[in-house]
Amino acid sequence: MRFLADVELICEECRGTRYKSGILDVRYREKNIREVLQMTAREALSFFAAKPKIIARLKVLEEAGLGYLRLGQSATTLSGGEAQRLKLAAHLTRQDNAGVLYIFDEPTTGLHFDDIQKLLGAFHKLIEGGASLMVIEHNLDVIKSADWVIDLGPEGGDQGGRVIATGTPEDIAAARISHTGRYLARALQENRPQGTSLSKISDIAGEKASALATEPIGSTVGAEPRAR
Ligand SMILES: [Zn+2]
Repeated sequence: MRFLADVELICEECRGTRYKSGILDVRYREKNIREVLQMTAREALSFFAAKPKIIARLKVLEEAGLGYLRLGQSATTLSGGEAQRLKLAAHLTRQDNAGVLYIFDEPTTGLHFDDIQKLLGAFHKLIEGGASLMVIEHNLDVIKSADWVIDLGPEGGDQGGRVIATGTPEDIAAARISHTGRYLARALQENRPQGTSLSKISDIAGEKASALATEPIGSTVGAEPRAR
């Protein structure tokens, strides 16, 4: 089966501005809606500094590691990881996450180190709110923050699919046959920043967070063309 490439045409009526000229004449701090939509979430945070209601919405984008997204960016151009983090941002504004189970499929895909730390922070927030998380992930910083890891392998793709090891990140690191364990052992050697462990927080909440590694580490880490 063959698929045609997506075709995008510029709307003749508004020439891509999305708004009628009357609306484009309205300005806040000299910018109209079209110019505002071209800002990144991060830029908009300072632009709207005096508007707490708007800031509350923008802050969760930054917290989910999406501060670089343009506000008007079309949802169809988002990567899978970005789309998941966008949904995550929406859920971060929820007051009560008690009893909610979130499942993420490689949410760190395409993220830079700083943004992975932000994503972990966002995960903490969900868990503090009473949620549980199940994450399919290759990223070691995420795996080593989990309460419980299920390592699937031994290799990727159709060479995998069997449970190789289960337990805490330390248990996995000690499992000799686990590829993930070998890399995890090294990651655990590095200084684990205080207070960033998901397990510490979820112990308090009495919840279990899970990470599920479906393929050996290193096969897909950070490989994504559309990063920013
Ligand atoms: Zn139009």
